[in-house]
Amino acid sequence: MTVTTERDALEAARSAFRLELLDAGLLIATSSPGVYGRSATFERILTGLDAVLTDMAAPLNATAVRFPPVYPRADFERTDYIASFPDLSGVVSSFEAGDREHRELLGARERGEAWDGWLSPADVVLTNAICHPLYATLEGVLPADDQVFDVFGYGFRHEPSLDPMRLQSFRMHEFVYVGTPQGAQEYRDTWLDVAQATLASLGLPITAVAANDPFFGRAGRMLVSAQLRENLKIELTVPIYGDLHEGTAIASANCQREHLTAAFGIRTPDGEVAHASCVAFGMERTTLALLRTHGLDVATWPAEVRGLLGL
Ligand code: AMP
Ligand code: ZN
Repeated sequence: MTVTTERDALEAARSAFRLELLDAGLLIATSSPGVYGRSATFERILTGLDAVLTDMAAPLNATAVRFPPVYPRADFERTDYIASFPDLSGVVSSFEAGDREHRELLGARERGEAWDGWLSPADVVLTNAICHPLYATLEGVLPADDQVFDVFGYGFRHEPSLDPMRLQSFRMHEFVYVGTPQGAQEYRDTWLDVAQATLASLGLPITAVAANDPFFGRAGRMLVSAQLRENLKIELTVPIYGDLHEGTAIASANCQREHLTAAFGIRTPDGEVAHASCVAFGMERTTLALLRTHGLDVATWPAEVRGLLGL
């Protein structure tokens, strides 16, 4: 196949999978690509998966914390997300002016014109990576050499697509280590293996590959090559579209070193900058990978998989 027909075939396969999910009622379309409602069955699978992940992580004795899907703009400023991924960001705006401006806004709206020029940025942004709000709370000296956190929540990435594996708003479950440099590296390596084995136990054909994140622009291309060269982030992928695509990442294990801990001033008791690493699971993506692998009718899934997921 030529490159163009291969790309067309991939797009067709993505659209076909999306339509199958909509026809089966598992996802509910909205007018925005990548923004869906989920059915009760979809949520039952996702909840079962989450219980499997929580059991997997039991030996970590992680401190569980939950944040809402927005966090302070001042904390967002401390990450370099707007430098690395401006196109994926989501900033909340609201109306802060008076009656006159409101009348102008309504006039523009009445005429069918853009009215968002009357809005100004609020003090919160949409959370892109659910560990960022956590780091913002850890500023200062950690109470022990290391600590592990269990974080779950909605993340936003502005990447509209008709591929059902690429959503704009989706849940992640992350297990985040904060501590010593050696501890962060060991944690990444150990929990990558555990994550892979756990996902494989659900019948998913997993491959581990070095990640290359979609950093923006020319400076971004250098960050990608550094990420690959230093082998910092590994993704666990599942083939969704056969030979048409190399596979979609459903989870990742990432050694961030001091990248975010330095930005948020997090130190170990010996006064050194802490290092961090995390293992992150995409909840919708993994649920969709299960549906793609075992079929859209849960009743026909292998008994062992249903048992593990409590279905
Ligand atoms: P990342 O922080 O980019 O490694 O993302 C963590 C996990 O979230 C990935 O391994 C995916 O499973 C999931 N994920 C990332 N982007 C998307 C997206 N656009 N739609 C659905 N899931 C995603
Ligand atoms: Zn993270």
